[in-house]
Amino acid sequence: MGKVTVVTGGSRGIGAAVAVRLARAGHRVGIGYAQAAGAAEDTVRAVREAGGDAVAVRADVSREDEVDALFETVARELGAVTGLVNNAGVPGPLGRIAEQSVDDIRRVIDVNLTGAVLCARRAAQAMATSLGGPGGAIVNISSGAATLGGAGEYVHYAASKAGVDALTVGLSKELAADGIRVNSVQPGAIVTGIHATMGDPDRAWRVGRDVPMGRPGEPEEVAAAVAWLLSDEASYTTGAVLRVAGGR
Ligand code: NAP
Repeated sequence: MGKVTVVTGGSRGIGAAVAVRLARAGHRVGIGYAQAAGAAEDTVRAVREAGGDAVAVRADVSREDEVDALFETVARELGAVTGLVNNAGVPGPLGRIAEQSVDDIRRVIDVNLTGAVLCARRAAQAMATSLGGPGGAIVNISSGAATLGGAGEYVHYAASKAGVDALTVGLSKELAADGIRVNSVQPGAIVTGIHATMGDPDRAWRVGRDVPMGRPGEPEEVAAAVAWLLSDEASYTTGAVLRVAGGR
């Protein structure tokens, strides 16, 4: 039977590292992405080079129909879904709340929070033992910002990630009897393209200098934590929020 895990936002950054790390742990991986088809195919290739199997599916996590299609395609191509990594996320441009456009604020909450809820809902439908599913595990990618607050940079992003952690707590209790564990990972500043998206390509190094470990993290360091939470080694771990942020 083996594990089949959907990784949203698996085309780049942390999601791509998670996909490859999971392949090395024996998962077949459904790679969701928003636009970067070429990058998603690169991740599929990297998964295959790691000895695994993968399929890439374009799916905006804020859209229910596309989330449904993502899960259906992965189940058809790779087998019954047993895991979800709710990783897709957008930060919007950096700035104080008074400078943010309402459209940018709505998009951040729509993708980061509504998207995570929609994917968790679809995963619960596919995996809950009371609905005939195999059970499984969900890892929600939150952020250190959920507790730091993101003041001056992106308070709405931080709020969306605090919502993701509340989702973890509630779902871990709701789905425990259905054989589904639910945990969060809160990365700190990780070296990916997300900082350029915010308008500050060097941000990870600037922020990383000030954390106790004195450096930003690498996507693979987040992927290792995700892989452990999805593994049978974490069989009694649910409702946990694991900080992967160099001590901050
Ligand atoms: P990234 O390099 O910018 O990659 C973002 C990924 O999300 C891409 O695969 C992108 O797809 C996908 N995506 C964006 N909007 C989407 C949507 N509406 N539907 C589906 N997929 C969508 O970001 P990252 O740094 O790896 O971040 C991954 C997660 O970690 C995010 O949730 C982020 O908030 C969180 N995080 C990151 C850091 C950090 O410092 N990097 C710190 C804390 C938390 P395309 O490639 O198709 O655009």
